[in-house]
Amino acid sequence: MSALENSPVLLTIDDEEAIRDSVAAYFEDSGFTVIQACDGRDGIDKITSMRPDIVITDLRMPVVDGLEVVDAVCRMDDNLPVIVLSGTGVLDDVIQALRRGAWDYLAKPVKDLVALELVINRCLERARLIRENRDYHENLEQLVVQRTAELRKLTTAVEQSANSVIITNADGIIEYVNPKFTAVSGYTTEEAVGNTPRLLKSGRQNDDYYAEMWKTIRSGQEWQGEFCNRAKDGRQFWELCSIAPIKDESGVITHFVGIKEDISEHKRHEEQLYYQANFDGLTGLPNRNYFQKYLTLQLELINRENQQLALLVLDIDNLKFVNDTFGHEFGDLLLKEIARRLEMSGGLGSFISRFVGDEFIIVLPPTTEAGQAVLFAEKIHSAMNEAFVIKGSEIMSTASIGVAVYPEDGTSVESLLKNAEAAMYQAKKDSKNAVCFYTSELNFQLEQRFAMESKLYKALERDEFSLLYQPQIGLPDGGIIGMEALLRWTPKGEEVVSPIQFIPLLEETGLIVAVGEWVLWKACTQAATWRKQGLPPMRMSVNISALQFMRSDLDETVKRVLDVTGYDPGYLCLELTESMIMIDSMRTMEKLTALTEIGITLSLDDFGTGYSSLEYLGRLPIQELKIDQSFVRRMLTTKNDAAVVNTIIAMGRGLEMELVAEGVETEEQLAYLAEKGCTVIQGYYFSRPLAADDFERYCMEQKC
Ligand code: C2E
Ligand code: MG
Ligand code: MG
Repeated sequence: MSALENSPVLLTIDDEEAIRDSVAAYFEDSGFTVIQACDGRDGIDKITSMRPDIVITDLRMPVVDGLEVVDAVCRMDDNLPVIVLSGTGVLDDVIQALRRGAWDYLAKPVKDLVALELVINRCLERARLIRENRDYHENLEQLVVQRTAELRKLTTAVEQSANSVIITNADGIIEYVNPKFTAVSGYTTEEAVGNTPRLLKSGRQNDDYYAEMWKTIRSGQEWQGEFCNRAKDGRQFWELCSIAPIKDESGVITHFVGIKEDISEHKRHEEQLYYQANFDGLTGLPNRNYFQKYLTLQLELINRENQQLALLVLDIDNLKFVNDTFGHEFGDLLLKEIARRLEMSGGLGSFISRFVGDEFIIVLPPTTEAGQAVLFAEKIHSAMNEAFVIKGSEIMSTASIGVAVYPEDGTSVESLLKNAEAAMYQAKKDSKNAVCFYTSELNFQLEQRFAMESKLYKALERDEFSLLYQPQIGLPDGGIIGMEALLRWTPKGEEVVSPIQFIPLLEETGLIVAVGEWVLWKACTQAATWRKQGLPPMRMSVNISALQFMRSDLDETVKRVLDVTGYDPGYLCLELTESMIMIDSMRTMEKLTALTEIGITLSLDDFGTGYSSLEYLGRLPIQELKIDQSFVRRMLTTKNDAAVVNTIIAMGRGLEMELVAEGVETEEQLAYLAEKGCTVIQGYYFSRPLAADDFERYCMEQKC
């Protein structure tokens, strides 16, 4: 309201002063503020200047008439009620006025001012309603504009966010993803919407991790964590993700919103830092820091299991010389090559690390056998002894190795390392290119091995090998059906050495191939001689080592030996072990078939100690099983061993194989095996392995 509050302003426009006065008098009494105008122009001026709430105008006036007033009012404010007063008989004027925007009319002269008041009040009420309605709509419009602007701001923020945003419904079905999501994951909006976030699963987190997340957000709480996700092209990326439930007014979860920050770069940096802190940049091997953590953990584990563990410190003897002569780049390449060779020869379970310069540290797998360390140390040492090829040139690089064994030589990482280093310096001092143990007992063992190894190289040419023959007795009649050739080595001027000691060395050095061939020649020549001398036909069994079986063309060798000696293949048997033939490969099968095609017998030695698959065994061309002597030794005292023996016999019979029991020493053992159906017996009960002439004598005594 433009005038005093609660006092509407009424403008009465009339050229007749009396009418104006009566209107003014009446309406001022009714609480109006009344302004008067004497003609149309005066009226329009007052409307402009005084802003009345309602206008009553006469139609017929000089200068500017009532219709023009109506027009002016409508132009100025279409919500300002204007009521026309018209003389009787000018209905046409009234119609005109209403058409042009007058709100109502009354006939002149106005006798009943109460009627005018009613009209005025009605019009004022209508104007108020229109004004309120207008205000309401104006407010609403403003609100809509405001809200739209806010929404646009939010949408833009989400759309242009540097983070991935993903909204799913309460069941986890994706309803919205923002452009960043599309850019990071490679999935388009169409591909993502309708799917679940599992789309991105990389498999790097376990199911518990996801379950925990779902539990948290389903309970209405926010969850934060890291995910390693997989993009459409398979690339993995890390995200820091916070997921919050969205609830409706009644608190029911309707959606989940996930905001994810790509932290791959950060992770990469973290990994890089971890790598730099734990690994040697040149060789990629663990560094001193990592070694420290690793060995500490190993020592804790070992403590619980009562095992031993060897630590080797290996120092390259000539790295300084190589660097000075060929340059550092060459030296670096050599170090890399050494690292690779150490990894190869260290075997499974060894931990190899490089500290500084030319020093490498090797932690061997825990063992209950301290002697194992001797074997390993020697293996690593000889691996280093072969020439390296760097940039096309051959170079020899030797190393000094010091060994300390836990717990004898130290119980902490520091003491073990210190003592292994001390041993390494001792090795360097003694002579370069050597291994030295901190403990004298192991040192002694090592020296023995070195000594034995160097003697073995000359044993063949010095004719220090010989064969013993152990009779095999057939059941049930007890006649000699054959013999097993067993190798012996008598180094010049020394006692005879057991094959248990020197065969592993022959295998490691590769000498076994040549020595094995010698055994074949010797055994077949001897058997052929016995035949010629008139001994009855007997079968000769010869042991074959894994390396011999894998490396040499064994079948060719066997053929040549049989050819030259004229020995009957039907009386030659080769003893193989489970481990060498249980590798289910075409090559194994081909080798076995080639051997059986010669007409010889194949036997599985030490049977029961390996892991034979019965199904596979049945397919192999093997004609004989030799029950390992450990079972025979214990079968009468231990139930389990008796069960193993019984099973092997049952299995052998099922596969129609010959069954040989070895290590039979007593009559009770013989009786048990005979009763179970074993067909051949070998053991001290009948005879120890014999020299050739003793074997002949044995045969004579048995009258075979
Ligand atoms: P093997 O092939 O299982 O030979 C049987 C071993 O048991 C022989 O030991 C033999 O002397 C021993 N033995 C036989 N009867 C009894 C008995 O009643 N009681 C006990 N306690 N032992 C008995 P040896 O001669 O010391 O040979 C040991 C292993 O060395 C052989 O086990 C075999 O694996 C290997 N070997 C022997 N000669 C050769 C060979 O020429 N080449 C290859 N590659 N390995 C051979
Ligand atoms: Mg044997
Ligand atoms: Mg055996």
